[in-house]
Amino acid sequence: MTKGRFIPVLVCALLCAFSAMAAPFPPDDKKPGDDKKGKAAKQKEDTIAYNLPETSSEVDETPDTTLITFPSHDLYASWDVNTAHPYKFNEAFHEDSVVITLVNPGDNNFILPYKGNLTSLFGWRKYRPHYGTDISLHTGDSVVAAFDGMVRIAKYYQGYGNCVIIRHNNGLETVYAHLSKIAVESGQSVTSGQLLGLGGNTGHSYGSHLHFEIRYLGQALDTQDFIDYETGQLKTNYFTLRKSDVENKYDLRALHYRHRSDVGLNAKSGIKKGKSVYVVRKGDTLSTIARRNRTTVNALCKKNRLRPTSTLRIGQRLSI
Ligand SMILES: [Zn+2]
Repeated sequence: MTKGRFIPVLVCALLCAFSAMAAPFPPDDKKPGDDKKGKAAKQKEDTIAYNLPETSSEVDETPDTTLITFPSHDLYASWDVNTAHPYKFNEAFHEDSVVITLVNPGDNNFILPYKGNLTSLFGWRKYRPHYGTDISLHTGDSVVAAFDGMVRIAKYYQGYGNCVIIRHNNGLETVYAHLSKIAVESGQSVTSGQLLGLGGNTGHSYGSHLHFEIRYLGQALDTQDFIDYETGQLKTNYFTLRKSDVENKYDLRALHYRHRSDVGLNAKSGIKKGKSVYVVRKGDTLSTIARRNRTTVNALCKKNRLRPTSTLRIGQRLSI
């Protein structure tokens, strides 16, 4: 008996639900590059000149950003306020070596971001690279800028937690992670020793500490090559960065895989018999194993009586 009445009610409910879905999102929910709803947000961005994404150059009333000079802009040619490390070192670095003058005349001297015990150094940890130096502190302790520069990133950023990244005139970028509070904002000029935030335990962190990185064109370097943490002073004002040092010392991921591959190649061969064994690890596929061992999937399949589609077991031994 109520069937006739029920259907219009249902249709009305559906229409209401649909119109609610089609209602415009608030400006904060706008995704970058969504032109339809972009006007309000674009105006917002325009007021912050340093925050202009590349796509905004198409906007008619583009502000004159030539007046704004970002530190080391010639070297980087970009100013990204969203991504921590958007650079490709291997593509950007064409020299065999470069001498980096850490503190130029007229700049303020280097200041240690926080003076405390080092709890973890630059290097490969069990499963992942550690690109920084960890300095023990208490939550709430002041963390300061190492060199003069301009804040590029100041926000919560993945495993870094609350994080500040500064671009410097010397070509370096420094990273300050796991902060409990951030006291600066993107685009702000800072001098060495200036408060950036308070130490903490945010992001991928177990216990309060400062994770401090020094990078050049995105490549993380060992801060201990620059800093004497005992005295809090720079070890040298002229740091020579060699491409060979990156390959042999700083590019942790590449080093790790090279080492693993060497171990895999040497593990079973003992006396050279022209035969090597690779032990399958989690995440391996025939193609990644082939690439890493400079062979082909076909050759691997032939040697091990496999098909390209065969499932690999962790711990399985493959002849290379
Ligand atoms: Zn760390």
